[in-house]
Amino acid sequence: MQDDTLRYIEHLQRKLSTPGMEPMYDHARFRRIMLEDDGQREARRAASLSLGEHLSDEVFEQYARGIREFVPKTAYDTFTSNAIFAPIVSEVEQALHDMGRKLAHPVRMLTSPDASPSPASQPSTDEHYLFIGEGTSRFCNYWGKVFSQCLADASFDAQGRRIAADDMKPFFEKHPSIAANAIELALHYAFFGNLLHYGVLQQSPEHFGFRMELVHAMEVFIVGHEYGHFLLQEYRDALPDQPDEDVRHADEHWCDGVGLEVCRHWGARAGSWFAFSGAAPLIFFRATSMCENARSRLNADSARLDMNDSHPPTALRLEFLRGLIPTRIHPDQTDSVTGYCGEVEVVGDALEQVVAGAIRLAGGDNPVDEEPGAQV
Ligand SMILES: [Zn+2]
Repeated sequence: MQDDTLRYIEHLQRKLSTPGMEPMYDHARFRRIMLEDDGQREARRAASLSLGEHLSDEVFEQYARGIREFVPKTAYDTFTSNAIFAPIVSEVEQALHDMGRKLAHPVRMLTSPDASPSPASQPSTDEHYLFIGEGTSRFCNYWGKVFSQCLADASFDAQGRRIAADDMKPFFEKHPSIAANAIELALHYAFFGNLLHYGVLQQSPEHFGFRMELVHAMEVFIVGHEYGHFLLQEYRDALPDQPDEDVRHADEHWCDGVGLEVCRHWGARAGSWFAFSGAAPLIFFRATSMCENARSRLNADSARLDMNDSHPPTALRLEFLRGLIPTRIHPDQTDSVTGYCGEVEVVGDALEQVVAGAIRLAGGDNPVDEEPGAQV
């Protein structure tokens, strides 16, 4: 990479960076902690968290070799964000190819040093930049744990009927830690604006595969949405750089449509029902909505600072997505897709009630005038 390009990328990353996260970008330190100081215990723990509980020596060695051989391209480049998102970027590009939507210019994936869940894209006329990192992956991972456990264990009653949100009360009574986790995540977000340093959220090993499938599908949607921005840039080279608010909001909806279409194509190829059905983006927005609601009610000043008029409120994006989910699928699949997304909504409603109750208890009843929009 040329020095000028490098300097420009670092400048963009610096603008995105969240203060206080500097040690995260020190690869020498990361490598020492993971592979040297702790006799590889940290690395083994991290690898088993991301690759599976029953990690073979061979798979672990491959992971450790990745850390040893990783060379950051900029001061903010991290091994972890590359390891997580480089494969997802390839999968999204394959899905776009299947959809017949090819970008004229290449995409360079770079670590986002922003702790918030939002990636950032910088489309340009010769090379597009996608900034994405652990702020996004941890948000998906934490909420993926909560939703996957509810969907795995509580979506049907003993007679196999779908249950309503109120009927989930006995489930939360039986599994109080799940309700507590949802509340804690929303409250953490309310005060920090991200979930980067939330800490350990326990989940039983038998849910690992299901949760990873969900997290993966959420990340495919998020990256697919950002590719939507690159496509838009290429489709409208001749249009003004600063479209008005209506156009910007319409663009976000359009990019959500691209994200869903990417999920459909990738999900069909990879056998991911979370992606194919649209449940993964639905869960992402429902989680975002709970977090934003908590922040606006408990930390209104910070919520006002988060506001960004380039993005429609999350409630509108949810409505738009709900309208899209039953479309562009074979009629034979409509019932199963809408049925499954209906279960996700039941779980989302139940979690939302639990979180809203906790916010009321915490004295949060003064939302800011307008809900801030997710900035994905
Ligand atoms: Zn966007």
